[in-house]
Amino acid sequence: MLKNKITLLKLFGFNVRIDSSWIIILFLVIWSLAEGFFPARFTELDEQTYWMMAIAGAMGLFASIIIHEFSHAFIARKYGLKIQNITLFVFGGVAEMKDEPQNPKVEFLMAIAGPIASLLLSVLFSTLHTVGDATGLPIPIIGVLGYLGTINMLLAIFNMLPAFPTDGGRILRSFLWWKKKDIRWATQMASRISLFFAVSIIFIGFVNMIASNVIGGLWWILIGSFLFSAANASYHSLLIKQSFSGKSVRHFMNPSPVTVPYGITLKELVDTYLSHYPHKMYPVTKEDSIVGMITIADIKAVPQEGRTQYTAGGVMHPKNTNNSVSIDTAVNDALVKMNATGASRLLVTENSKAVGIITLKDLLEFIALKMELED
Ligand SMILES: [Zn+2]
Repeated sequence: MLKNKITLLKLFGFNVRIDSSWIIILFLVIWSLAEGFFPARFTELDEQTYWMMAIAGAMGLFASIIIHEFSHAFIARKYGLKIQNITLFVFGGVAEMKDEPQNPKVEFLMAIAGPIASLLLSVLFSTLHTVGDATGLPIPIIGVLGYLGTINMLLAIFNMLPAFPTDGGRILRSFLWWKKKDIRWATQMASRISLFFAVSIIFIGFVNMIASNVIGGLWWILIGSFLFSAANASYHSLLIKQSFSGKSVRHFMNPSPVTVPYGITLKELVDTYLSHYPHKMYPVTKEDSIVGMITIADIKAVPQEGRTQYTAGGVMHPKNTNNSVSIDTAVNDALVKMNATGASRLLVTENSKAVGIITLKDLLEFIALKMELED
């Protein structure tokens, strides 16, 4: 999963976020517009104007992608699917759903909404472009309008590629799902077709590069790699969601983890515990209840010579909402928390008392076992 996400704005109750890689892409888009696209079409303008057009074009592209994603999110919300975040990636975004759509029809409607929005935007900008041309608007403005008409058409086409989890891939999956009534099979098939597409696109990229179209080739390779990892990840995430559906933390926690007392020094902790129980995290107890957790990383942060002075209680992380979940939390929600905080171990609480721990490792082992049994 991607970690470096920045929240840009809040709109209609959705957080619009960008993946930090998007910033690099933004510069790449502006640069290729200013140095390639616009100068090739309008030879009479000066350097500064090309850059202004490029920035305006990139902003328009950015707004178009947000409108595309919102159209998905609105349909999703209409059918009761929770969407909190809209994250913008390279060629579009992802409206992050907590659950899978309940039936193929909802999936189809949700998926088709985005390309339809892009198509309408394309028609709108192309019309403005034609009108602007006829009424004699300044050339830079006409140029940007024309670009936005084209790019929205490309976005509509790109998103309709049958490469899960793009919109086209979701539409494909909704058909397969509708035919066989089995979402897992449909996802697996859609993912396989997507992987084939992704590899073909990467191949086209290499062919282009060999034919000395380096920049064009790089774009193909970038798109192909993005599709490849996305298709892989979405099948796995469905498997995980399904495996833990309806199950709570209670079923998977370790109710009697090795704990360390609050007052123990770090040196004693290393000597007595680490050599016997090689865990990465120990709950810390005070008067028989768990009050926090200490990790190997916390111990390592204290230099050797300081370890006789510091106690486990002094360097531990006190129990808080980020490092603990209640015992009745759905496993999928616990996984969301692990993903959001980067912690692979959480304390489990019952009536605000810590009663155990849950680890990502145990959950993954369960998945691995389950997949082995089913195959
Ligand atoms: Zn879309």
